Amino acid sequence: MTEKKTGADGGANRRAYGRVVAKFGTNLLTAGTDQLDIETMTELVRQVAALRERGVDVIVVTSGSIAAGRHRLAGSKYETSRQVLASVGQSHLMHIYDGLFAAHDLVAAQTLLTRRDLADRVGYLNARNTLLALLDLGAVPVVNENDAVALDEIEDVRIGDNDNLSALVTNLIDADLLAILTDTGGLHTADPRREPDAELISLVEAITPEVEALADDASTPHGVGGMITKLQAAKLAIAGGADVVIAGGHEGNLLERLVGGEPAGTLFRSSADRVESRKRWMLAGLAARGKIVVDAGAAEALTARGKSLLPAGVREVSGSFDRGDTVPIYDQDGHRFAIGITNYGRGDAERICGMRSDRIAEVLGHEYGEELVHRNNLVLL
Ligand code: GLU
Repeated sequence: MTEKKTGADGGANRRAYGRVVAKFGTNLLTAGTDQLDIETMTELVRQVAALRERGVDVIVVTSGSIAAGRHRLAGSKYETSRQVLASVGQSHLMHIYDGLFAAHDLVAAQTLLTRRDLADRVGYLNARNTLLALLDLGAVPVVNENDAVALDEIEDVRIGDNDNLSALVTNLIDADLLAILTDTGGLHTADPRREPDAELISLVEAITPEVEALADDASTPHGVGGMITKLQAAKLAIAGGADVVIAGGHEGNLLERLVGGEPAGTLFRSSADRVESRKRWMLAGLAARGKIVVDAGAAEALTARGKSLLPAGVREVSGSFDRGDTVPIYDQDGHRFAIGITNYGRGDAERICGMRSDRIAEVLGHEYGEELVHRNNLVLL
């Protein structure tokens, strides 16, 4: 169901957001040219800095490395691959972000991901922990796909477009808004580059086949994604519980306005419960391994008080599992009442079982956090 409204009505009930993933596409960053457009980047960084100033967590997902690499190597006599272009361009891209953020006293932190990093459970936890630690520090993570190693031929390695990457990152760090900034301004009734009468759709309640048919466009010359990948990304992020906006990155103060709940572009509103749906997404398809048995106090803390599972409450661990695996949690009566992603593998878990968390580092010689299973990585059955 769609509403073709613009202005205040289309934006009714927009919520204010505290953690935002802002995705900048190649066509936006190059302003349609064949090289990075410093003026555009300066303005986008200024807006990110303004949000940080207001206490909003912002993660940037940026494209532009391939375009930047292509420009840098222009005239080179060698035939180059996408991977090579990305390697050359990524450092140039980060150099620019680094300088622009530094001008606002902010630290930019490059994070390069592939599909495999996120599908692998340890990689998933590590990526999540790193991004959350960067946010805690007040840094601005600047994420791109690791194109240098993500080969086209290997399907399960490559995400392929930064729209989908931005949705994966949104779910990874529980953002409540994914803002996909483009040069086209949102989802229209037709492709606005070809049909000037195309109208902006300001609110999409559900991504139906009818909505998907509107996105039947070709990829643009410099970027990879078109509206099709943006809709795929919107689907993934709203299923994870975040709202998604696709809007024109050149609109003044766009990010600040969006975060304040003002309407712009096309809003895809999530109807899913944020935390629970994220957990479903996270745990979907992961095979459970091993077994953790907890005492009555821990079972009560988990089921009635929304707490994490600490080693102190664990009576027994069995089976084989690694850090990052999904492990079922049992009470002492043998009821499986929860499932969670463990921070410690079987060997470590056995050694810290029944202990206070402040002894973990001393006993193991390393520490991955005070919880055996963090609340965010736990689902009650
Ligand atoms: N990762 C690519 C780059 O930085 C962009 C992919 C995309 O535009 O979706 O050039």
